[in-house]
Amino acid sequence: MDKMGKLKDIVVMKFGGSSVADADKIRKVADRVIEFTGEGKQVVVTVSAMGDTTDRLIELAGSVSSDPSRREMDMLLSTGEQVSIAMLSLALQEKGRGCVSLTGIQAGIFTDDAYSDAKILNIRPERIFKELKKGNIVVIAGFQGVNSEGDITTLGRGGSDTTAVAIAAALKAEYCEIYTDVDGVYSTDPNIVQKAVKLNALSYNEMLELASSGARVLHLRAVEFAKKHNVVLHVRSSFNKNEGTWVMDEKAIEEKMERPLITGVTSDTNQVKISVFGLADRPGVAADLFGKFAENNINIDLIVQNVSEKGIAAISFTIKNEDLSLARKVLEVLGSESIAVDPDIAKVSIVGAGMQTHPGVASRMFRILADRDINIEMISTSPIRISCVIRKPRVRDAVKALHSGFDIEE
Ligand code: ADP
Ligand code: ASP
Ligand code: MG
Repeated sequence: MDKMGKLKDIVVMKFGGSSVADADKIRKVADRVIEFTGEGKQVVVTVSAMGDTTDRLIELAGSVSSDPSRREMDMLLSTGEQVSIAMLSLALQEKGRGCVSLTGIQAGIFTDDAYSDAKILNIRPERIFKELKKGNIVVIAGFQGVNSEGDITTLGRGGSDTTAVAIAAALKAEYCEIYTDVDGVYSTDPNIVQKAVKLNALSYNEMLELASSGARVLHLRAVEFAKKHNVVLHVRSSFNKNEGTWVMDEKAIEEKMERPLITGVTSDTNQVKISVFGLADRPGVAADLFGKFAENNINIDLIVQNVSEKGIAAISFTIKNEDLSLARKVLEVLGSESIAVDPDIAKVSIVGAGMQTHPGVASRMFRILADRDINIEMISTSPIRISCVIRKPRVRDAVKALHSGFDIEE
């Protein structure tokens, strides 16, 4: 606070699991946070669970339950972030800083009832403001909120990004910094393709397509929030001081840089394909089927309906791996007897605002895959994205081929 008792510019900093993986890293994060407060900012920090804690908790649940309920999973997984906020607050206090940790509930993060994939409905930031006014650094647990029952909910894997951006929007923060284990958003996963290029700036729309098609560096809902509330994002490394990637409004970008044809290549190996056979080929069948999935909060990605023979059709679609057991139950209730589940698929996508004005991008993509003898099983497009479902073992080859085939590397 300044002498007039007003809050200074607020910045939200989010640190992912790898950034707080052990005590040493947590101390370094504390130093980084303190540096920011030295720049005359008031800082709100969001953290993920330490290292691979969330994965370990999922495994732990699996050791006592073959089909764990989503409510109890949220109770379990949310503990990971609670450890991190306490640890970071302790480290900050050790360095002499006033600091308070808050769980999702304490921070006023209210969500819907969709356990394990909850949406933030609103944030009541009174407590956060109260603590900032006292001069405290506020450390908030990522990934969690509370529903109208008072139950803990979680926001889906990678959801701490969304906590950070939603908090930034609620506090009208200057911007939101996402600290992770890579230097920013790259043209493709830098851990798959060494020649991946770091992008300096991206529009919300491009980042939405990248995030929804598998670039897990930012959670999709975080980008949706950022776009809706015009929160500027800076994705950067927590291990160095390099400038990262800015994600912001389209117009601000256009002034900044020339647009390449393709901005990025993504892959998603966390999907399964379900085929439902023997469906009547009449109006309403797809509406009933997908209506039930929507009621159960299962997101459908690609859909293909086969040409019907003798009035009988088949529909294939892809969903997230973690929705498979729920999807099976929904199909059972619907009485769909003849189904096939194919877990051996992956989705590869190219994204770029430039494709809107350049015809022939799709055929070039299909040719690049064909030249590598990679078969395309499903296709979907948006104005700035083309996605293909292929066999899972070929996904790395496909990403590399597309990245070099579209001349994205320097
Ligand atoms: P955090 O724990 O910090 O949230 P994540 O593992 O969720 O980190 O996200 C960072 C990872 O995202 C990187 O290590 C990288 O492997 C992966 N990734 C996938 N696509 C991209 C991309 N286009 N740009 C940068 N990173 C990407
Ligand atoms: N800890 C959660 C996860 O591993 C949330 C996050 O990291 O953003 O998915
Ligand atoms: Mg993440």
